[in-house]
Amino acid sequence: MPKGSLEVITGPMFAGKTSALLKKARSFDGEMMLIKPSFDTRYGICEIKTHDGVAAEAFNLTNTDEILSSDAIEKAQAVFFDEIQFFTEPYFGGDIIACIQTLIDRGLNVVCCGLDMNWKGEPFEIIAKLKKIADRCIPLHARCAICNEDAIFTYKCSGSKSDIELGAADIYEPRCAKHYPFSSVYEPSETNDVDTRQGDLFDF
Ligand SMILES: [Zn+2]
Repeated sequence: MPKGSLEVITGPMFAGKTSALLKKARSFDGEMMLIKPSFDTRYGICEIKTHDGVAAEAFNLTNTDEILSSDAIEKAQAVFFDEIQFFTEPYFGGDIIACIQTLIDRGLNVVCCGLDMNWKGEPFEIIAKLKKIADRCIPLHARCAICNEDAIFTYKCSGSKSDIELGAADIYEPRCAKHYPFSSVYEPSETNDVDTRQGDLFDF
């Protein structure tokens, strides 16, 4: 059986990652399966929804065994993972990288999207590992909330100090390097004087 392929779509929040994933899923001609992290219930249990409201039915799976033994995967020729950075402990059981490699070896085409960095600018390990085995990486960017230039960072503008906090425009906004407080070229301005360095590590 010929091997499948792996595509990884990355970027900050509001870069259109999920939209790009769903567009690829919709244009795929064949049996396919959409999978999202099970704890992410912002927009409904079995639905992937983009920030601008486009929705699709998705499987909520909690470990690699559920993925590899599911009936849907037996029939599928392609698998699409949303928010792949969350397929890790404590939300997900098993090694998702090995699982994806198994799917590729079975001949499936895998497409993943996810955040490449948390709000402190630290890389998500899953994305970093997937990039190493990917056939294609698609880096997307958003628009900086301050200056409208290309934004590669996700800035946390409010919210609690809990480790995980799901949110959208109420808590996070995209920022370019000049307007991102953890960047080496950060330029504080009157409109941007919030100090986020006091927050705990946040994984989203
Ligand atoms: Zn900016």
